[in-house]
Amino acid sequence: MNRTLLNRNHSSLMKSSFTQTARTLTDSITIRGVGIHTGAESTVTLFPAEPGAGITFLRDNIEIKAHAGNVIDTSRCTILGTDGASVSTVEHLLSALSALGVTDVRIEIQGPELPIGDGGAQIWVAGIHDVGLTEIGNRTFPLLDTPLIVTGKDGAFIAAYPATSFRLTVAISFGHPLVGTQLARFEPDINDYSRDIAPARTFGFIEEVEALRAAGLALGGTLENAVVIYPDRYSVPLRFENELARHKLLDVIGDLSLAGVGALPPADIIAVKPSHRLNAAFAAKLHERLFSSPAWATE
Ligand SMILES: [Zn+2]
Repeated sequence: MNRTLLNRNHSSLMKSSFTQTARTLTDSITIRGVGIHTGAESTVTLFPAEPGAGITFLRDNIEIKAHAGNVIDTSRCTILGTDGASVSTVEHLLSALSALGVTDVRIEIQGPELPIGDGGAQIWVAGIHDVGLTEIGNRTFPLLDTPLIVTGKDGAFIAAYPATSFRLTVAISFGHPLVGTQLARFEPDINDYSRDIAPARTFGFIEEVEALRAAGLALGGTLENAVVIYPDRYSVPLRFENELARHKLLDVIGDLSLAGVGALPPADIIAVKPSHRLNAAFAAKLHERLFSSPAWATE
């Protein structure tokens, strides 16, 4: 599959916009499964969409656009909502869509939360690969022309530099002897998202997991869909030495798609100790910066 963004030529750093191939699914996909936080079973159907439709969720006949302005909670996952309807844990599906270049899709969900699958993005990647993609024209977006940084707590930040293609580096740091500080990096020209990122599973420390369960959360978490970190061991063998950092990278890609600048926009991004809250704040800021610039006065 051709994931190449346009505007790779040297002079594109001087441009104020970039053009991306718009893609949708060739056919619909239905996936059922349990949400990790609610434990509720949901049925999700992804439908092909028209050019320019973007990524939208539909729950109880209410349309919820996948956009930073619709983020209503980021405490354990990213929750989108509008007009009384909400959808939880959207980040892994959004990550797969963005990384595979899907720009336009309608997602109908029966249930409160997207299925967790095996903890990463593999269920979505497999579904998308099964039906394939159809190119539906081009779309032009504003291009980042000066660096942008958004800071969070305890030294956390996300920064983006202007670039001609997407690159993302993620660093995590936990005061736990097994985890410590880990790096993960993703460059579409070098890495294969389906192979290198999608299998990385969500994780939690055992104290957190116990507290969440006591609060009625993490009800769908099992040994099959999450890595639990004990003081001296992991609950399951890791799939990558830096699986935890890779999962955070997967999350950043998903949350970043809420900026509304297409799939994997050209930018060189570094995320240090990212969280859904910081990711969503960054996506909102990126959107604001790009679409309010004089160069993009028509939007
Ligand atoms: Zn995640």
